[in-house]
Amino acid sequence: MNECLRSHYYDEDEMHEECGVFGIYDFDGNDVANTIYYGLFALQHRGQESCGIAVSDTAGPKGKVSSLKGMGLVNEVYTPDSLSKLKGNIGVGHVRYSTAGASTIENAQPLVLNYVKGTLGLAHNGNLVNAPELRRELELTGAIFQTTIDSEVIAYHIARERVKCGSVEEAVTRALKKVRGSYSLVIMSPRKLIGARDPFGFRPLCIGKRDNAYILASESCALDTIGAEFVRDVEPGEVVTISPEYGIQSYKNMCQEQHARCIFEYIYFARLDSVIDGMSVYDSRITAGRCLAKDSPVDADVVVGVPESGNAAAMGYSLESGIPYGTAFVKNGYVGRTFIKPQQSQRESSVRVKLNVLKEAVNGKRVIMIDDSIVRGTTSDRIVGMLREAGATEVHVRISSPPFLYPCYFGTDIPDREQLIAYNRSVDDICKIIGADSLAYLKMERLPELSGGRQYCHGCFSGEYPMKPPTEDIRGDHEDFKRGSESHIIS
Ligand code: SF4
Repeated sequence: MNECLRSHYYDEDEMHEECGVFGIYDFDGNDVANTIYYGLFALQHRGQESCGIAVSDTAGPKGKVSSLKGMGLVNEVYTPDSLSKLKGNIGVGHVRYSTAGASTIENAQPLVLNYVKGTLGLAHNGNLVNAPELRRELELTGAIFQTTIDSEVIAYHIARERVKCGSVEEAVTRALKKVRGSYSLVIMSPRKLIGARDPFGFRPLCIGKRDNAYILASESCALDTIGAEFVRDVEPGEVVTISPEYGIQSYKNMCQEQHARCIFEYIYFARLDSVIDGMSVYDSRITAGRCLAKDSPVDADVVVGVPESGNAAAMGYSLESGIPYGTAFVKNGYVGRTFIKPQQSQRESSVRVKLNVLKEAVNGKRVIMIDDSIVRGTTSDRIVGMLREAGATEVHVRISSPPFLYPCYFGTDIPDREQLIAYNRSVDDICKIIGADSLAYLKMERLPELSGGRQYCHGCFSGEYPMKPPTEDIRGDHEDFKRGSESHIIS
């Protein structure tokens, strides 16, 4: 699985992040829709199925929100004309890949909810493990849901609590005490922008500032894109409110000692130019490559990375081993929503369409190929085959994460165990299946180096989750969608 295959149609061997969130409040009253657009564009790697922007004017009527959501990439959904109609100086945005709830326009975010105190706009990255029971509880008291996503459960609870308490931040905190799982949230109330991160800090969320506007974003790369300065990360368990009267206010009564940042943000999900909780994603990937070179050395002529996330790890391997770094793959990233997907019978595989090998770089050479992970193995065997066809005399595969052995319940779509190539197989077996000369994974004990000593989640490698996994299916109709929709599954 590799990042370049994160296109708008999905390969079975890909793994996906759930979502990216963005929020902004311009105290000077300037319209923010354009800025949200560019922020979402920078977060596009976190979700490519749908996107949405909701804005409001803090000086206008309390319930008035303009929003536009659509299926597809940010630059497919919005035009200069449609953005110009989104008037308001506070807003939230979202890019989505569905890990819970089907991929439909109804499930696109931000959710906009009218309630007695005004209107809420909410965008969520993560997965709630107790969403089904919370949903049932609400339905029994008369709630009618518009979507099948767990984020609506949070929105409903906030709206209910808001009626009972004095401020929206208090309502958010009370609602979040009921939910279990992973969430990074941006919420727009009529007069405040709110950010919240779950107590384990599974997913990232940071604060930025540009002129007289404050920003909340999943990753710092979005702040760089819009020319904002990084202020700080939202801490695990922290709720922040942003308003002209008080600037940034922080509420930490849900903060706890135990954290569980998703280590896969550093290995694969996050963009290379992001910094999460003080740890650079680039440094983390270089470190992973260095660790692989120390632990699993092999004689070779060139080290290459599978774009994009394998590249920095390949550089790290090269720096540590002294073996030259090379570019072996050219990717074609221009895959849009209307792309005609290759059929199984055709010679054009999804991998070949998106990735080509530079023969000159590998012909007659012993190649070390670094990738970030192997999920089912179907992509890896094709890429190894392509290197051999291009003349590589040996292909040694090094993976910058430990083997996936367990599913994820916290916002990524690592599949069930039976579908994972590493489940019940030895490394030698996997090496044979993907057709490599040798194969080695990053050792589990190296993971702390990737997070710079910060606490992290390793559930998909170890089966030890930071909280009890859900007892019932939390993906809703997501699984049906994945299995049943031809338009999103290619071989
Ligand atoms: S189980 Fe794996 S992918 Fe899921 S949050 Fe934990 S480290 Fe990340």
